[in-house]
Amino acid sequence: MRIDLYCVMGHPVAHSKSPWIHARFAELTGQPLRYEPRLVPLDGFAASLREFINDRTGNARGCNVTVPFKFEAAALADTASERVALAQAANTLRFDLGAIHADNTDGIGLVHDLQHNAGVDLRGRELLLLGAGGAAAGVLGPLIEAGPARIVVANRTLPKAEALVTRHRALALLRNTELEVKSLSSLEVDFDVIINATASSLAGAAVPVPARVLKSGALACDLMYGPAARGFLDWAREHGASARDGLGMLVEQAAEAFHLWRGVRPPSAQVLAELRALLE
Ligand code: NAP
Repeated sequence: MRIDLYCVMGHPVAHSKSPWIHARFAELTGQPLRYEPRLVPLDGFAASLREFINDRTGNARGCNVTVPFKFEAAALADTASERVALAQAANTLRFDLGAIHADNTDGIGLVHDLQHNAGVDLRGRELLLLGAGGAAAGVLGPLIEAGPARIVVANRTLPKAEALVTRHRALALLRNTELEVKSLSSLEVDFDVIINATASSLAGAAVPVPARVLKSGALACDLMYGPAARGFLDWAREHGASARDGLGMLVEQAAEAFHLWRGVRPPSAQVLAELRALLE
């Protein structure tokens, strides 16, 4: 039997939970595949991707892409989804007869986690999205598609947030979502949902906004997970919000990638529960 080959490319990559998640998806769905981590030199993404596609077994079918190569992956692809066109970043590549198709499952993974795993309906809500890097770019489109009344995007470097919002203006208009840019220091009070898509937790830095942004009973989600997310999650709980880390998004974005590659939907809620238990 042919075993199809997938990988996650990044720098660093050893910490990635994706090999474990995809191995578990494959086991639970009976899909014959192998998924491995690949450390890519910082200046070598295009060459490493070609090398993987031309693997001597001829069985390479796709890959995930993580920091810092998501923008490069989108630019290298032959075809791309609407989500990639908006984000200009890709986390999932599929190889179709030698051509590279790019998608971005980060945002749909986050929305799925918030709506289905955390049980939060985003329709009509006021959202604050912190950050304007690869993660924020990947999630803004799907967040708009989820139907909130308003999204404010705030970032340390304001022009990056402005460029991100400009690319999403037409979609927001179409979906009737008010879309605004603010600096981190000029944020008003009372958002229903706050999403920290900055690397503040990763960097061990303070939460980049004051607690007044949290409406009573708000949901505060950091895309980071593991010990580095604890500071943000403690801050949220101390100020009366419910707190969520990025582990659910990680598993749900992987489930979307798996579906894109294999046409099969894996039991993501089960795998999320297993991974959480493993990491505690
Ligand atoms: P990135 O492209 O490097 O962007 C970093 C962002 O964080 C920029 O907006 C940057 O602002 C901001 N930032 C960095 N340090 C900050 C600080 N101390 N205070 C305020 N803002 C700060 O990184 P990324 O790929 O977007 O990743 C962001 C986070 O999302 C990381 O923690 C990553 O682990 C997480 N993530 C999680 C998942 C998941 O599946 N759970 C998926 C993707 C990413 P400037 O523009 O001003 O530099």
